[in-house]
Amino acid sequence: ADFLSRYYKMKNYDVFFLTGNDENSVKVEEAARKANKETKEYVDQMAILFKDIWNKLYIEYDKFIRTTDEEHVRTATYVFQKLFEEGYIYKSFYEGWYCKNCETFWPKSKVGEDKKCPNVECQRELEWLKEDNYFFKLSAFQDRLIEFYENNPDVIFPKARYNEVLSFIKMGLQDISVSRKNVEWGIKVPFDKEYTIYVWIDALTNYITGIGYPDNFKAHYWENVHHIMGKDIIRFHAVIWPSILMALKLPLPKKIIAHGWLITASKEKISKSKGGDIFNLKDFVFSNPPHLIMALRYYLLREGSFGEDIPVSLERFTQIYNSELANNFGNLVSRVLAIIQKNLDGQVYKQTDISSLANIIDSFTSKYYNYVENYEFSKALEMVVEIANILNKKIEENKPWEINDREKLNNLMFELIFGIVNIAKLLYPALPYTSKKILEQIGLSSFDTNIEKVEIKYREALFPTIKNIVKT
Ligand SMILES: [Zn+2]
Repeated sequence: ADFLSRYYKMKNYDVFFLTGNDENSVKVEEAARKANKETKEYVDQMAILFKDIWNKLYIEYDKFIRTTDEEHVRTATYVFQKLFEEGYIYKSFYEGWYCKNCETFWPKSKVGEDKKCPNVECQRELEWLKEDNYFFKLSAFQDRLIEFYENNPDVIFPKARYNEVLSFIKMGLQDISVSRKNVEWGIKVPFDKEYTIYVWIDALTNYITGIGYPDNFKAHYWENVHHIMGKDIIRFHAVIWPSILMALKLPLPKKIIAHGWLITASKEKISKSKGGDIFNLKDFVFSNPPHLIMALRYYLLREGSFGEDIPVSLERFTQIYNSELANNFGNLVSRVLAIIQKNLDGQVYKQTDISSLANIIDSFTSKYYNYVENYEFSKALEMVVEIANILNKKIEENKPWEINDREKLNNLMFELIFGIVNIAKLLYPALPYTSKKILEQIGLSSFDTNIEKVEIKYREALFPTIKNIVKT
């Protein structure tokens, strides 16, 4: 999300990047109890921790929303009330097998002898839950959802998830329970305080709370909204959420993008308990300097293909760090700057036409744009690697260390600097810190590639040899 947000901001789009924490679920209350803390104290600490981690990872959001925020409580309450008044929410009796983790009632037909959650990724113990509840008329939206997705097959990325969602809807939608009885923690149903509003209505509405719904709604953002989430929660976003939006008469999402999981070599989902490796984010971000944080961002975007599960390992991380970051980008910048400092008094000027190199870079750049906009992040970054390869090859072929003619050397080095500025620009969405470091070293303050003169300010390795990476 941060990569896309930075990319579109770089291209002068008006982007509003919203992220945050869902704090009202029963799971949160349980986690607090386990940690021996008051729920409020627990969620406050989690919010601080997440903000710290995003900050260290250079995740530059425009707003961090917490579903316990007063403005969100107001919006969720408003939405519940409105849906009730318009007949989309009604009260009814319900009992069934319930999974606390998936926050889902499972039909008897799907529950086996073992009474375990039918969700293969979950398989936790189910409990029999019996209560009066408020229901959302999800079934009423089945036909409109099918029509929407059949007319807009590109809304869901990747394609496999689109097919999964569409066939799920076609199997038939049932109304869903949107309240819980006698639960302390959470947002109360406004007209029936025995009940709290359930996650479907509560958590999902954060997206419109975040841009001021209903009173100060920045509708222009909503008209082009992109949701980015883990693949395990795509159904909520692609089935329930658009139905709520239809009921509220709001535009439907432009894109629903599901990313895969980070998995270990043995295909287990990476989590705190399994295969934490370097990818225990908390340990990683709090014990490593920015260039390794950048390397982590680069690795996660570069490895595998976005949307699918990505096997990660410290070994591959180190490989990519060395081959692409240290030896390609890092080495290129360091060599070019060193020669300019040593043989040209730290300065280069534009004296000749560089359109031939500029055209080559332009063609890679437009491919890069295309790949990014189609969520093919690895291929996009490969285009930047290609540009660096071309520049490194130019150095090998022209052997600047053997050139005695100052003008000839200046012209070669200026071309290389021009290439490096382009690389800094294209690396910005993935590696904002590195990108800024490159510009700083050559005394530029913007990605404007229309440069006439460059003066080297200082030289510092972008990606020094890896010595010490946190392993857990
Ligand atoms: Zn479950």
